[in-house]
Order: sequence, then C-alpha cells, then structure tokens
Amino acid sequence: MTLIIGVVYLWASFRSRCLAEFEAAAERQTVSLLLDDFEGGSRDWLWEVDTTGTLSHTSARLSQISGVPVSDLRTLSLRGLLDRLDVGSTKSGRAAVQVIGDHLDRLMPFREVVIPVRVDGVDRWWSLSGHPRLSEATEFVGWRGVGSDITEKYNYERRILWLAATDGLTGLPNRRTFGSELSDALGTVRTGEEVLVGILDLDNFKSVNDTLGHPVGDKLLISVAARLNRVVDGAMCARIGGDEFGVVLRGTGDGGEVFARYLDALREPFYVRGNRIEVRASIGYAGAPADSEDADTLVMSADLALYAAKSAGKNRVGRYSPVLRARARERASALQELGLAIESRQFELYYQPQVRADTGRVEGFEALLRWNHPVRGVLAPHIFIDVAEETGLIVPLGLQVLNMACAEAATWPDDTYVTVNVSPVQLMSSGFGSAVNDALEASGLSGKRLQLEITETGAVEELAVAELDRLRATGIAIALDDFGTGYSSFESLKKLPLDILKIDRSFITELSEGDSAVVTSVVEVAKALGMQSLAEGVETADQLRLLLTAGCELVQGYYISRPMPAKEVAEYLSATAHSNGGYFHSF
Ligand code: C2E
Ligand code: CA
Ligand code: CA
Repeated sequence: MTLIIGVVYLWASFRSRCLAEFEAAAERQTVSLLLDDFEGGSRDWLWEVDTTGTLSHTSARLSQISGVPVSDLRTLSLRGLLDRLDVGSTKSGRAAVQVIGDHLDRLMPFREVVIPVRVDGVDRWWSLSGHPRLSEATEFVGWRGVGSDITEKYNYERRILWLAATDGLTGLPNRRTFGSELSDALGTVRTGEEVLVGILDLDNFKSVNDTLGHPVGDKLLISVAARLNRVVDGAMCARIGGDEFGVVLRGTGDGGEVFARYLDALREPFYVRGNRIEVRASIGYAGAPADSEDADTLVMSADLALYAAKSAGKNRVGRYSPVLRARARERASALQELGLAIESRQFELYYQPQVRADTGRVEGFEALLRWNHPVRGVLAPHIFIDVAEETGLIVPLGLQVLNMACAEAATWPDDTYVTVNVSPVQLMSSGFGSAVNDALEASGLSGKRLQLEITETGAVEELAVAELDRLRATGIAIALDDFGTGYSSFESLKKLPLDILKIDRSFITELSEGDSAVVTSVVEVAKALGMQSLAEGVETADQLRLLLTAGCELVQGYYISRPMPAKEVAEYLSATAHSNGGYFHSF
C-alpha cells in the first residue's frame, strides 16, 4: 500500500514537475536534464523508449543500478535490458516479463510490476511502471516510466510475512498458517479425495518442563517438530500451541493408519542435554468432506477426538464421531449445572461405618458424596465425579467436602475418625495441604481423627508424596483406596506414605467363590509394610469370616451398614456402642 501511494506520489510529482511543462516543450535536452534531476540521489530511475522500443533516456543512474554501461543501454530495448539481467531464469521473472509485454502490446499503462533481476551476479528486486507517451497530436511516440530497486524493502516484507506465518521456536508454520492452509486445502479438494486434519498433543510434556526445565523442554519441542515434519511427504505440520501440533494432509487411504505413523515417529527416545526422554502423544483427527467441510468445525472435531483419545488412555489415535459432539454438549451443561450446585450447596455427605473385623467396633466413617439434585433427586458420585474431575470443579467441590466432613465429624465421639475421598486432581492442586489444615482449624477436629483416601493414579507424583508426608506429620492418616485395581500396585505401596490399605471390592466379591489366596497375600504384604488392611464392599457373613481368617483388620460394606445421612450417625453409634457390632454373633 505504501509502495502504491509512493509511486502515485512520484507520478504526481513527476507529472507536475516535468511532464506537464516539458512534454509540451518537447525539448529533448531539457527533458533529459529534468529526468536526471528527478533521479538524483534516490533508488528510482526513469526509463524512456522511442517508437522502435529502444531506450532513449539512458541515465548514469540506470547504468549504475543495472550494471550495464550507458553505451550498451542505448542499443537495448526494455525487454533486452531485462534479458541482460537474467529475468528469464526465474518463474516469477518470466511471469513479470509476460505482464509487461502484454501491456506494451496493448498500449496499456502498467504499474509496479515486481520483477526479479540479477545485477552483477547479485539477485535484486525491481518494481517497474510505465505508460505510453503521446504527442500533442495524440500520436504514439514511445513509452516512459519509472523503475525502483526495492530489494531491501521486498526482503524485509518477505521476512515479516515469514515471521508472521512461522512458529519462532520450531520454525514450523504457526497456528494462523495452519488455519489458512487448511482453508486452502478445503477449497481445492478434488472429488474422491479427503482432507484430513489431525491434532497431536504430547502426553507428558508438562512433566518434562517441570522436572528438566524449560530450556530442555524447548529443545525437545524442536526435535519433536523435526521428526513430525518428516513423517508424510507433502503434509503440512504446524505448531499450534505449547505442545500441540496440527497436521493437514490430503489422502484417500485410512487416516488412522497415517496418523499412527506420527505416533510411531516419536517412539524412539529423545536425547536432550544428556537426558533420555520418552515422548508419547495422542492424536485426534477429522476428515473433509465426511465430518465437515468447514475449517473451524474440522479443527474443533479433531480436538474432540483428541480429548476422547486422551481420556481413553493416551498414546493413541482417535477419529471424530458425532457421538463425541453430543457428549461434549452434555459435559458443557453438566459443568454449568455442577458449578451452580456447588455454589448453592446442593451436596450432602453420607457416612458409611468402618468397623474392626474381629469385634465389630465402629472405628470411623467414610464420607460419601451425594448430590441432592433439585429435579433428578439424590445422585450418586459416579454420575458427576468424572465431570467434576475433568473440569477441575472437583477442587472447589472437594474443599466443600473436606469442610463438611470435618465439621460433622467434630460432633462425633473423640475416638471416631472420618475418612474423606481425595481425587488425584484435587491432591495435585496447589494449596491442597493448607486447605486441609484450614478445614481442621475451622472445625476444631484433631488431625488424628481425619483420614484421606487417595488412589494409585493420584499418588505416584513426587509432589503429592511430599504433600502427603507433611499432612501425615500432623497426625492425619492416609489410606490407599481401591487397592488392586490400578497397575504397579506393589510399586506404589513402597513409595507412598500409607497407613491403611483398602482392598478393592472386586477381591472381596471373589472371596465368596472360596478363593482367599489373593486377599491373604495382600493382607500379609500390608502388614509387612506396617499398614492395616480394610476390606471394602463386604456384603455377606461368609466374606466377613474369610476376611477374619485372612487377618484383615477392618471391614466396610452393606453387610455392616449402608451409608447413612449425617443426622443418623449419632443414633447409629449409640445403637452399636454396647452391642458389640451385632453382626459379630450372626456368623
Ligand atoms: P469408593 O471410595 O470405593 O467408595 C465406596 C463405594 O462403594 C461407595 O459408593 C459405597 O456406597 C459403595 N459400597 C459400600 N459398601 C458396599 C457394598 O457392600 N457393596 C457395594 N456394591 N457397594 C458398596 P458411592 O458412595 O457411590 O461412591 C462411589 C465412589 O465415588 C467412591 O468409591 C469414591 O471413589 C467416589 N466418591 C465418593 N465420595 C467422594 C468424595 O467426596 N470425593 C471424591 N473425590 N470422590 C468421592
Ligand atoms: Ca473411598
Ligand atoms: Ca474404594
């Protein structure tokens, strides 16, 4: 735009200063003098050809800029001059010559045609404008125009454009370019062909950054980018976010197979500054025209597929399906509803007793969350906990749970504890430790009467271990929930600061079939590590007997009691206090 204004301005001043007066005078010499004056000190020069097409105004400046001696210039046509400067050697040069030639043939003015030339072996960029000259009698007498060497400006603009289109760290196209290339691809897709959009997200990049530092993280991203960029010839690979890459490719084959190759490309470990780093990623993809023909919708669909691939266990490729969109909508409304429910305190805790297996004495209660939904009635956690975890709402919700549980337990007898479920997200959230201390302080409950139930997934992170150590130092007990359902179970037992091992209900169910070997060995391992065992989901007298034989100290389940509202706890305690658990004699 500036260039156009500049040239228009030049033309205007050219006309006012020279043409108007001197075309009328038509005095060759004076015109030349004035033309020289115009050229003085700038990168611009004027050209003029006569009716035969030969350069008739040949200034020292043009000679200097073109590297062609003035004597030679006089014998050349404009085309001849450009040929001497190798314009034919590039595609854009040939195209520019074609444009100028067309205009000359049709006696049409042309403006700012950008043309690559080679002057003394150096590539330069010129801009040429010209218009036909007419005599007073409107007879054609040749051409006249202005030329500029715009190399610096051109290179600068190209660099700016490149910067705007490129990710500074990896050199890949950036998010903007990703969007525009996708739109281009969609605009030119042929029948029978598919345009596939993939979004790849590294599964463990944050922990690399956190543990090895940002410089290592940056280097890793550069290497990852280089590998991804080589996977499919002709595919566009862009960096569209911190550890997120976008791929656009055309194809007719199986998208799942193509994108699996991107995961394969990352399989070999990376070596960055002496660190061996294993990188895993997840990919979601969608295709046009099948899923949508709109760029934004496709990206959104690939994103949903990515999200699903991640929740399905990471390190995999997932294709978009309409079900995902429906689920996303449900999640969005659940999120909104859940947020309101937390604010208006629609949650309540039920308590389920945990008793000694041998005496039936009530040791404490597990707090189990219920949502008193204004329309749907009382909702169990499996309906809403997942959404709360995915959206992070588990943090404020968990806080409410902690405070309620501590406040209610503070009204119970001194030797009765409360145990609270803590989700991994909550455990890893900042300020969790102080939130626990605040809840104790506000309620007046002693730390010795609080227990936290964590799961193996949430427990493995180093940070969490340190936090749990601190909490334990204040007397709080830690229980490992659902033991046996995760992987590497025995590994985490060694690493974690634990007091209680909760044997998952699935093992207790198996007990009824007479096989108590697993439970017996779990109980023994727990003992060896200085922990007590608690069996969950005890439903029958048989199970209870077998657990006693296996040496399991604590039990919990429908056989003892179902979870009850807070207001029934006191009555339950007084009813069971002298009855030795009641259940004890029944088997
Ligand atoms: P969990 O921690 O394993 O809790 C035990 C679940 O088993 C409870 O279901 C309980 O009602 C049920 N249960 C107890 N005894 C028996 C039995 O004998 N037989 C059978 N079939 N089931 C029994 P609930 O209350 O629906 O809770 C489900 C899960 O929701 C819990 O599993 C826990 O993971 C989660 N949860 C509950 N409350 C909270 C909470 O406040 N915060 C967090 N983060 N999670 C919670
Ligand atoms: Ca639990
Ligand atoms: Ca459990």
